Amino acid sequence: MPELPEVEVTRRQVEPVLLGRRIEKVVTTSPSYFFVTPPDRIRERLCGRAVDRLERHGKYLLAVLDDRHQLLIHLGMTGQLFCSIAQSPRLLSSTARTALRPEAQREFEPDRHTHLALHFEDGGPVVYLRDVRKFGKLALLGPGEQHPRLARLGPDALEVDVDLLFAAMRKRKTPVKAILLDQSVLAGVGNIYADEALFLAGVRPGRRASRVTRRECERLAAGLRDVLRRSIETGGSSIRDYVSPSGADGAYQDERRVYARTGEPCPQCGSAIKRRLVAQRGSHYCPNCQS
Ligand code: ZN
Repeated sequence: MPELPEVEVTRRQVEPVLLGRRIEKVVTTSPSYFFVTPPDRIRERLCGRAVDRLERHGKYLLAVLDDRHQLLIHLGMTGQLFCSIAQSPRLLSSTARTALRPEAQREFEPDRHTHLALHFEDGGPVVYLRDVRKFGKLALLGPGEQHPRLARLGPDALEVDVDLLFAAMRKRKTPVKAILLDQSVLAGVGNIYADEALFLAGVRPGRRASRVTRRECERLAAGLRDVLRRSIETGGSSIRDYVSPSGADGAYQDERRVYARTGEPCPQCGSAIKRRLVAQRGSHYCPNCQS
């Protein structure tokens, strides 16, 4: 699932391809739960417009049009926002992937999972939004309109503030990991980066939030900033379907210390990494380094 770093990498790479280009034609799939706003309205509204800004709010992208309307994009589990020049086996179905010889790869051709295609007047690269499992969302907002989900988001996790985080944890009996995943406390943290930051802080994911000390909370905030920034630098994590808009795989998955490394040795002490269900999510930790 794309988390803050993957959405930010997407934003940084798509923005230059998108900004200031006049949209000539918009192709969508049929109405479905993917479209919060009916696709015919989206096609009508985007045609003839240009995108002025591409913003990120937590794991959401917001394309602000030159008429102040806004297109809200959530990538869900398997959403991919990319340009027609991208080449990656991750843009193909799993059956096509296994049958594919690397040299047989061509420029992406829209398939039934390609819910939005933006063609531009200049005839340059097309921008696609594809989502195989359709847990993503696309909504059109009026000028100045704020989506309730955006209104509920806490501060961006890249700017995590120790005082705020500590205040959010002090009186809570829920596991610390649940607080990190709560988008109203911090926007953008998901399973991978929560596990990694907890490892860096030496705190087990299942520990009661109110039992995290101020000092541990400082390490946790620093750990979050470190893993999120490092992941953006390396292009995000390509563990399942995530692919950057250029088609390149992220490299952060190679730097993971605990996430999805069950049974492998801890990079600090060599103990086997364990996995436990915390806050309904598979959570990975070192039983020796984290308490
Ligand atoms: Zn360890």
